Amino acid sequence: MNHFQYSNQDLYCEGVKIEDIAEEVSTPFYLYPHATLKQHFNSFNNAFEGIRHLICFSMKSNSNMAILRLFAREGGGVDIVSGGELYRALKAGVNPEKIVYSGVGKRVEDMEYAIKTGILMFNVESRQELYLLNDSAKRLNKIANIAIRVNPDVDAQTHPYISTGLKENKFGIDINESIEEYKIAARLENLNVSGVSCHIGSQLTNLSPFVDTLKKIKGLVKRLGDIDINIKYLDLGGGLGITYDSETPPMPGEYADALKKELNKTELTLIFEPGRVIMGNAGILVTKVLYTKTAGEKNFVIVDAAMNDLMRPSLYNSFHAIQPVKEGEREIITADIVGPICESGDFLAKNRQIGSPVPGELIAVMSAGAYGFSMSSTYNSRPRVAEVMVKEEQYYIIRERESYEDLVSGEKIPDFLE
Ligand SMILES: *Cc1c(COP(=O)(O)O)cnc(C)c1O
Repeated sequence: MNHFQYSNQDLYCEGVKIEDIAEEVSTPFYLYPHATLKQHFNSFNNAFEGIRHLICFSMKSNSNMAILRLFAREGGGVDIVSGGELYRALKAGVNPEKIVYSGVGKRVEDMEYAIKTGILMFNVESRQELYLLNDSAKRLNKIANIAIRVNPDVDAQTHPYISTGLKENKFGIDINESIEEYKIAARLENLNVSGVSCHIGSQLTNLSPFVDTLKKIKGLVKRLGDIDINIKYLDLGGGLGITYDSETPPMPGEYADALKKELNKTELTLIFEPGRVIMGNAGILVTKVLYTKTAGEKNFVIVDAAMNDLMRPSLYNSFHAIQPVKEGEREIITADIVGPICESGDFLAKNRQIGSPVPGELIAVMSAGAYGFSMSSTYNSRPRVAEVMVKEEQYYIIRERESYEDLVSGEKIPDFLE
């Protein structure tokens, strides 16, 4: 069920007219329908019914506390990549025993914070990290559960910036060399080896890289068992793709079936770290048209959202559908939808066929729920935008628009300049 629908030419989010929200909160803003969030989380979670599993939402895709709380209530945990994310997750009420910690560059302070918190598992990405984590745990008189993030050397067939499972990528430890690291980990007194983890990339639209990875990991688990290193958790990461334009990614049910088939009856507990597949199509960015202009053959639509608000088009040249918030008869033009930032890379869409918009009207940038707000910055001293959640006929501001005071908070002019 799509919770962004037109009724009498007006775009609605669940039961709320988007224009009405814009009048109250101004533009730009991110908008998330509660029903979609819940539906996406549960359809992923339910797809794995019948095997022990835990969904650790990848909170780097969207770390708003209201959203984390919602998933926590549905039984989810989170995958974190920093101490800041741990802080947010705990504040949002996520159960520490459902938190896994990924990332190639964990800082000692952050590891200690996570050890004290008693998280479920560290996904360790290098030998140095193993030793450092063991030392930290020893200092705190604790045992840290670990998985080694292995690099299976599988091509995720996705954008190179979001492909992580090839030998040449910075992530994880080569799957064949990982046995040696597991042996070291097993000897370290303040570590408890409990899992194998991997994450091969993002926006995958084929099942075969996932299945190939699982095959390799099954082999590893068996080899580890042969040397008495017994694995309890298989963390298969995230990466399932979504439809931005005309992609046809597998549904969570198909993904789950393919993995289940490969696993048969397993005693292992599976962990998943989905981000995009849950959030991507559960959020839009609403922005206002400021100006339209032409330069030679080219049409520009200048809107009040920019690359600092939604970085994906500039960063990955990624596609986001553009829809009017009020439908109507219009001339079709080809235009670049651009923001006010002083960079030519500041665009939300390029050479896009759209119904010619007029200044002052609202447009919706679709599929912006994942890696949208969470990647936003204040470049050009633009305050970060508001985030709004709709539930049925009501909307709730889940993050206030930043103020100019927020922009300069923490900055100091030294005495000698006074
Ligand atoms: C980014 C990331 C994810 C989430 O990826 P999606 O493609 O958004 O599902 C999961 N695990 C790790 C380790 C990541 O870095």
